[in-house]
Amino acid sequence: MASYLASIYGTEQDKVNCSFYYKIGACRHGDRCSRKHTKPPFSQTILISNVYANPKHTDPNCTLSDEQIQTGFDNFFEDWYAELAKYGHLLEMHVCDNVGDHLIGNVYARYEWEEEAQRAVDALNDRWYDNRPLWAELSPVTDFREACCRQNETNECNRGGFCNFMHLRHPTKGLIKQLEHEQAVELRYKKEAQHAAKEAAAGGGWKKNLEEQGAGGWKSAPSGGDWRSGPSSRPVAT
Ligand SMILES: [Zn+2]
Ligand SMILES: [Zn+2]
Repeated sequence: MASYLASIYGTEQDKVNCSFYYKIGACRHGDRCSRKHTKPPFSQTILISNVYANPKHTDPNCTLSDEQIQTGFDNFFEDWYAELAKYGHLLEMHVCDNVGDHLIGNVYARYEWEEEAQRAVDALNDRWYDNRPLWAELSPVTDFREACCRQNETNECNRGGFCNFMHLRHPTKGLIKQLEHEQAVELRYKKEAQHAAKEAAAGGGWKKNLEEQGAGGWKSAPSGGDWRSGPSSRPVAT
């Protein structure tokens, strides 16, 4: 029995646990769902809800071209990738382009280690982005292929943006590779710095702790998103 329950956990047959929450990390019924949304105590994956604002979704009179929207998105993607890579080794990051309340603008990130994901959640919950407080949580999503809408990949989803599976927005080709490369360089640099610091601590000479000089901070945000603004006098759109 126990193994049967384990085998159906989070599937459609599971009458207790919500398959949407389990697979996608978000369900349109939210807290009112009749099935359980069991928050994982540990996870490599985090979710930051409702952060990417596609101008086409937020402004019905949007006149931006597709290229302009893509450029804005690429900047957003780069911003977030660089920020999330600060908390650990980022394995993948995805942004939803759905329009339903529970999925709109969601950013998902998966780290190599659970501690990294926890660190990111703790830090991001104290941060603001674009004049809005961030909401981050550990997410049960483990396999993004399962979470994504297969029909959307072939442009055949007739539910459009209101689909309850992820419709991901993809950055311009080559950008992810470039960001992964930058992260790898940064990680190597950090490792070397740690090594140097250890040697220095062991009396190995006057080597400087490189880590202190590393990764020039988070000063410029190409997307124009201001990471440091707290609750400002600007009214927050709800
Ligand atoms: Zn649910
Ligand atoms: Zn779909």
